[in-house]
Amino acid sequence: MKALVYQGPGKKALEDRPMPTIQASTDAIVRILKTTICGTDLHILKGDVPTCTPGRILGHEGVGVVETAGSDVTTLSSGNHVLISCITSCSKCEYCRKGMYSHCVNGGWVLGHKIDGTQAEYVRIPYADTSLYKIPQDVDEEAAVMLSDIFPTGFECGVLNGKVKPGDTVAIVGAGPIGLATLMTAQFYAPTRIIMIDVDDNRLQVAKRLGATDVFNDSDGLAVSKVMSLTGGIGVDAAIEAVGIPSTFVMCQELVAPGGVIANIGVHGLKADLHLEKLWDRNITITTRLVDTVSTPMLLKTVVSKKINPKDLITHRFTLENILSAYDTFGNAASTQALKVIINT
Ligand SMILES: [Zn+2]
Ligand SMILES: [Zn+2]
Repeated sequence: MKALVYQGPGKKALEDRPMPTIQASTDAIVRILKTTICGTDLHILKGDVPTCTPGRILGHEGVGVVETAGSDVTTLSSGNHVLISCITSCSKCEYCRKGMYSHCVNGGWVLGHKIDGTQAEYVRIPYADTSLYKIPQDVDEEAAVMLSDIFPTGFECGVLNGKVKPGDTVAIVGAGPIGLATLMTAQFYAPTRIIMIDVDDNRLQVAKRLGATDVFNDSDGLAVSKVMSLTGGIGVDAAIEAVGIPSTFVMCQELVAPGGVIANIGVHGLKADLHLEKLWDRNITITTRLVDTVSTPMLLKTVVSKKINPKDLITHRFTLENILSAYDTFGNAASTQALKVIINT
């Protein structure tokens, strides 16, 4: 089968690989229909994720059809259309029993990282019963791909951890796919204002279309002062970090109002300053989280009821044969205006 293989920092190729096989009775083999590329895949390609070793098939998002189910898989059978969660959950370990699937001692984020992933014609999914979700009939499969990772991530790490409530003022720093998924799911809670901050005007225009009340381009470094004048000098109830660099984490510290929350979503590779000398008396909360994907069933229902339309984030479509062009397009988002790309196998 064809698969996109990480060959070490800066190197990747579309290779012919053997078909995956059932290794444990709780596994399923899924024939991939659609997959996508994540910012995390670009981090791996840069060499930022040493736990991902050369030879690994990348990808942790996608939808497909169950080809074979192991003898202990009880809720799925061959022919079922399924959403592949970016997080693998055994459902039995201490963390899974707490709903913290991200830290599952037998799973967690392993797909396209510690085991072969979804940017291929077929993938082996461990603990299939609790790591795959049947796709309801009314859900578009492209929309479902967006629920493998970015929508649960934006919702759980940004909106839930940010404790977004009716009437709140929310700032989301970073209008990439994750920031935009946060914007869309924050609206479940009817905040009064959702301010998006980025340095890319195209992304800010998309944000405006998707429900942002105010958008600020911080290329001039004035976004914080603009938010302050907009909020009467108070700041925001939830400052959500969706970039993953030190300066945007510091910006969230400048944006948060007394009593507010800084919810970090970004994947940080560098240490970032925490200005406790300014924040120690401001009653704020800082949260971090790796997505657990506990909200995936709920998010599927909101897609069925058309409360959200995740397809709004899809800008480009490719075939698996052309996945290297898909990487080029996704990796040069500033010039291609790419948000999420769909890869049809
Ligand atoms: Zn991802
Ligand atoms: Zn577990």
